[in-house]
Amino acid sequence: MNNSGWMAELIEVHYACSVLNNTLRTGNLKLTTDNRYLESFPAGHYVLSYIHAVSGTMIQSAPEAVALRPIQIPEHPQWPPLSSEEKSALKARIKHLLQERNAVLVAHYYTDGDLQALAEETGGCVADSLEMARYGSDSSAETLVVCGVRFMGETAKILNPEKRVLMPDLAATCSLDENCPADAFSAFCDRHPDRTVVVYANTSAAVKARADWVVTSGIALPIILYLKARGEKILWAPDKHLGHYLARVTGTDLLLWPGACVVHEEFKSAALERLHRLHPEAAILVHPESPDEIVDQADLVGSTTAMIKAVTSMDNEEFIVATDEGIFWKMQQLAPDKKLIIAPTAGEGATCESCGHCPWMAMNALHNLEQVLRKGDNEIHIDPVLREGAVRPIERMLTFARQHGISGKLPG
Ligand code: SF4
Repeated sequence: MNNSGWMAELIEVHYACSVLNNTLRTGNLKLTTDNRYLESFPAGHYVLSYIHAVSGTMIQSAPEAVALRPIQIPEHPQWPPLSSEEKSALKARIKHLLQERNAVLVAHYYTDGDLQALAEETGGCVADSLEMARYGSDSSAETLVVCGVRFMGETAKILNPEKRVLMPDLAATCSLDENCPADAFSAFCDRHPDRTVVVYANTSAAVKARADWVVTSGIALPIILYLKARGEKILWAPDKHLGHYLARVTGTDLLLWPGACVVHEEFKSAALERLHRLHPEAAILVHPESPDEIVDQADLVGSTTAMIKAVTSMDNEEFIVATDEGIFWKMQQLAPDKKLIIAPTAGEGATCESCGHCPWMAMNALHNLEQVLRKGDNEIHIDPVLREGAVRPIERMLTFARQHGISGKLPG
């Protein structure tokens, strides 16, 4: 194959790559003949030589490889079943403790429906990460009890250092956060000083402190477009699928960290096609943390809030939903007549992470919520120096959201 006759070649390259003009497809590097400059890490030199030989495309290997360490994915906790009387009594105790402690619940859409209902009943907040971040500052409560995963509690503390922030389980983490250790990420940034560092909210305080911008899925797109218009090249972390999606739809030069969400990565495209054939009238809603072949089948790609809004605003009676099934509680509350179907994962007998529900989100339950309120433990602490670094890129996002009228709030 000579360079001039070469039109397009798909080469399996399972690492993070920078993306120009939509050339990166899921798990593949799709090359064209126009000598676009792509950076790739940690591609072996033989792969890079091959790509250069067949396409003439300039590719530069980064000086060091980024190797993600394997992470431990927990089993879903088995909470003792509660009779309706026991549940009512537990909820009553929690309500009492919330008042007594001047505390408020801030719950994510992926948590258990009982927690979301309780947050609403007690004047707290049920929201996506953008609104969760904002809510704490608006609340007069002295204590924020964050039902979600650890980066959400940390973000609440970073934005509200004077408040006490508690979580039902401090071990509730996130595969994206776990797979982006601050030291390796910082070294990666050091190797690309010409790039603006944009990190997803699903990161530790230390990673946020290394970033120029923090974004949530609800605001990532307009911020990337804004940076593109300023001619900035971007280093993106940690979700490679969301990064691919942003690069594809904006045509922006993104250098990607190779992390992934263990829940969204499990959605399976062939099974989704089969399911859609069984429900041809259903609209497919996809969170952009999902792989490209799932995104490609979507009627709507968007944040959790955008997906909830779609269920209420689209005429379809059925929806196939590719995100954590915890979101069904809010969707069903706002659109009780709509039929919701979880997008297929690896199916029966599959591993814990392949059930459409985040194992770390599942660590939040009425049981340990009552316990944390009673004992006052599981408090989030952030080193003040770290906080100073982390608050700047978060504030930048919140200011951008205010200036551009972007909100994760649901209507009504
Ligand atoms: S659903 Fe995925 S992105 Fe969300 S907290 Fe769980 S592992 Fe992280």
